Amino acid sequence: MILDGKTLKQKILDENKKIINDNNYKIKLAIILVGNNEASKIYIRNKELACNYVGIEVDKYLLDEETKEEYLIELINKLNSDNKITGIILQSPVPSQIDFNKCSGLINAKKDVDGFTKENIYNLYLGVDTILPCTVKGIIKLLEEYKIKISGENVVIVGRGNIVGHPLSLAMLNKDATVTIAHSKTNNLKDITKKADILISATGIPHLIKEDMIKENATIIDVGVAKIDGKIVGDVDFLNVSKKAKYITPNPGGVGPMTVAMIIDNLIFMYERGIKNG
Ligand code: NAP
Repeated sequence: MILDGKTLKQKILDENKKIINDNNYKIKLAIILVGNNEASKIYIRNKELACNYVGIEVDKYLLDEETKEEYLIELINKLNSDNKITGIILQSPVPSQIDFNKCSGLINAKKDVDGFTKENIYNLYLGVDTILPCTVKGIIKLLEEYKIKISGENVVIVGRGNIVGHPLSLAMLNKDATVTIAHSKTNNLKDITKKADILISATGIPHLIKEDMIKENATIIDVGVAKIDGKIVGDVDFLNVSKKAKYITPNPGGVGPMTVAMIIDNLIFMYERGIKNG
């Protein structure tokens, strides 16, 4: 069965549009892009379209490739103290003169849509209610929508990146999964992936996950994005793996749309928390 992220995204956007409209929420997102990365431009366009659809205002800050780190820090500080701004996204990657971790870490934790600041990651580590990284939250929502059991299951995550694999391992642990994390130095990857009830691959290595690496009736989540001849290719050899899996995400059309939907979800969460806390 296909885990249809595209359809679920639309359902989430419609629900959120109604919440924003019914409550007359005035939510505003600031997106900062430094440089000319073409993929980043597409990503922020998708985020902007989703915001426009649900009634969230977007301020875009498109900075030159040569922007100095001090300038970016000044902008982040300004947005942090602007009461009209609900959330801030610093789009990655950034040019080499800018330290992404340092700068994204300066975003006020309450406005941290991506959930990358120390405070939010520490809350994730503690297992308290917090702003989750959008891809992580999107994967969990997708599993929950299809009523796929997480608690007690063997969840294998391939990839330990800071944006997906690493925070996802904590979130899955918080959901009582038995978590294994594999990476590029892992010995005998196949022996590990074959034990997964839920296998989540977030490497960016095209078709890393083959049919003989999965257990019969497993759930397969393909996060990776690579391009071959201008076409998006995931981590999973979908054509063959889908014959053996019980549930599988298409790619594109699985995790990607869920990531965008969760930006809206996080912004509403942050806005409502702001109202509650005054
Ligand atoms: P990352 O930080 O570069 O991490 C990639 C991970 O893959 C690393 O942990 C690396 O291991 C591991 N890896 C590389 N080759 C491997 C191999 N042959 N076998 C096993 N593991 C291997 O990337 P990321 O930011 O986490 O993103 C991962 C992928 O997800 C990328 O393709 C990205 O574009 C995609 N992504 C998609 C979405 C979405 O919404 N669909 C959102 C975010 C990211 P080491 O740590 O040992 O180097």
